[in-house]
Amino acid sequence: MDFEIFKKNIRNVPNFPKEGIQFKDVTTLFKDAKILSLLSDAIYEEYKDKGITKVVGIESRGFIMGPILATRLNVGFVPIRKPGKLPCDVYEETYEKEYGFDAVQIHKDALSENDVVVLHDDLLATGGTMLAACRLMKHFNVKKIYVNFLIELEDLKARELFDENIEILSLIKYPI
Ligand code: AMP
Repeated sequence: MDFEIFKKNIRNVPNFPKEGIQFKDVTTLFKDAKILSLLSDAIYEEYKDKGITKVVGIESRGFIMGPILATRLNVGFVPIRKPGKLPCDVYEETYEKEYGFDAVQIHKDALSENDVVVLHDDLLATGGTMLAACRLMKHFNVKKIYVNFLIELEDLKARELFDENIEILSLIKYPI
């Protein structure tokens, strides 16, 4: 598949939400029915033979393609959310952001040691969010972790920060 078609449909918004950031707007990728369908096919092709048992999506842009992939794979979807959103007992991991700290949570009964999971988010920048999500997986001792992004900002080299047992795949790459 020619992944350039996806790049053509991602809107780059300079200086959003603040000066110096090249914001990758994926709403333009999702709004076209044909492109959305191609995107669904592309991600499904990558994971269809990997024995995935759960797709885990990160709030909030991981909640768009995450459930689409889960439906294609015929497996369940599990959300990782910001603090205070999940109603039952949770595990939490904090991570450092440019200004201060943030945290992600997952329900304690969301996964089991029999699961093979693919963690999904829209974009890999510094990696802080996804690394915290991977630490959450340790509570469940899952069999295998795959990590998926639609977009990777390669020059930030965040993929080097992940454990070597974790398979990382991003469909679309930009320098920054
Ligand atoms: P990070 O934890 O630094 O890898 O940041 C990843 C999260 O921040 C993702 O959930 C993205 O939605 C968002 N994000 C970071 N940088 C950008 C960017 N340049 N364009 C769009 N979203 C971004």
